[in-house]
Amino acid sequence: MLSLAGASHFSGSMALNKRVLLFIFQVIVCFCFFSLSQGNQQFSLRNLPPLQKASSFPATRPEKYDYIVVGGGTAGCPLAATLSLKYRVLLLERGGSPYGNRNVSYMENFHIGLSNMAPDSASQAFVSTDGVINARARVLGGGTCINAGFYSRASSSFIQEVGWDEDLVKESFPWVEDKIVKWPKIAPWQAALRDGLLQAGVSPFNGYTYDHVSGTKVGGTIFDETGYRHTAADLLAAGNPNNLRVLLHASVHKIVFNSQQGRLKPRATGVQFADENGRLHQAFLNSNRDSEVIVSAGAIGSPQLLLLSGIGPKNDLKNHKIPVVLHNKYVGTGMADNPMNSIFIPTKSPPRQSLIETVGITEAGVFIEASSGFGQSSESIHCHHGIMSAEVCHQSYLHHERLFVQEIGQLGSSKQVHQTIRKAAAA
Ligand SMILES: Cc1cc2nc3c(=O)[nH]c(=O)nc-3n(C[C@H](O)[C@H](O)[C@H](O)COP(=O)(O)OP(=O)(O)OC[C@H]3O[C@@H](n4cnc5c(N)ncnc54)[C@H](O)[C@@H]3O)c2cc1C
Repeated sequence: MLSLAGASHFSGSMALNKRVLLFIFQVIVCFCFFSLSQGNQQFSLRNLPPLQKASSFPATRPEKYDYIVVGGGTAGCPLAATLSLKYRVLLLERGGSPYGNRNVSYMENFHIGLSNMAPDSASQAFVSTDGVINARARVLGGGTCINAGFYSRASSSFIQEVGWDEDLVKESFPWVEDKIVKWPKIAPWQAALRDGLLQAGVSPFNGYTYDHVSGTKVGGTIFDETGYRHTAADLLAAGNPNNLRVLLHASVHKIVFNSQQGRLKPRATGVQFADENGRLHQAFLNSNRDSEVIVSAGAIGSPQLLLLSGIGPKNDLKNHKIPVVLHNKYVGTGMADNPMNSIFIPTKSPPRQSLIETVGITEAGVFIEASSGFGQSSESIHCHHGIMSAEVCHQSYLHHERLFVQEIGQLGSSKQVHQTIRKAAAA
């Protein structure tokens, strides 16, 4: 398009020149808008590897990889990107692309995205066996495409508990932060929450910090100031596109193991996956001893895939007629979620929208967060809006006058707390 404008310029016509200049100006404005909407200027998405459909995988001459990463989510994308700097990597994601999906990219569509039940939605609704409505991601970028975008570093005690190398973890945080994390321009509702928490005794105020510390703080967010969401998929641009193959709509059905008899431990040799047309493919690891299939398919997807592949409690596997590869009584058991108690406060006019910016962390390990401006009318608040709906969240819709007495009153009896929240609710 630019070369066309250049060709017109040589015609010498004044009117044409004006049109050409206008066109060039529009191109520059569009380019600036695009760069800004991508947020962080030092990190460019230009290096993203091609995001290909799974059906493009060669059926006849299968390529071999050093690493096959199953699940292109919050963990899978940065893993695939960093491994690709040295190794050949295949990343398989069952969902589609987050780019061009307005429900993913714009904060204003957060609730719409979560309540979208279509089979190609980035958010897959499910109900736990206890009857709790929940959602999990089904898109490249995983949970970072459907979540509330709040960013915090893991606490030191958590890092020690899970046995990670603390120095390495601390070195790794800025790698992510520099690319996709921003400081929020704190919304009025979030400022009211901050003041309310402090008045209720959730102190000290730790200011703006990524660290997980007791008290009240403002944390990071993956939404930029225009409300555009940056996701783990963006991190793929930090990899080596020549070493990294990303397949979308690639649903991995099972991990394939070396079935050699007499081995103490079975060894993964590849995976079997279905493409967007339901056709099955196999991808293989090369024979390098360090080659691995990495399962990063989420809290539900990872144990599900292990079980389908024959790793889990042997009786359960036998009941489902799945050949046992490795007995492990823990796989697929002991699943727990954070209990969530929500309070909904109706307002006369919708406050500015915000997701999670301010957080109160109590010594007992309770997190208190708030979002604002869902734009729900008094009728729509009774409709099903997915995980964030008032109907779903334990019927906890209360009029704010009653709320002050019943709920906030338990946090602290200070008149000031009530006034601060009352002011924010009326704003
Ligand atoms: C509504 C909501 C709000 C949240 N808000 C926050 C927040 O503000 N801050 C925060 O820190 N956390 C938040 N979380 C939690 C956070 O998003 C998750 O803990 C995190 O994304 C999990 O990362 P993961 O890599 O384990 O899994 P995911 O990011 O879910 O990635 C797993 C990926 O694997 C893919 N997959 C699964 N099975 C297969 C298969 N068989 N083959 C191929 N691909 C497969 C999935 O499609 C998915 O993309 C929120 C979660 C939800 C649901």
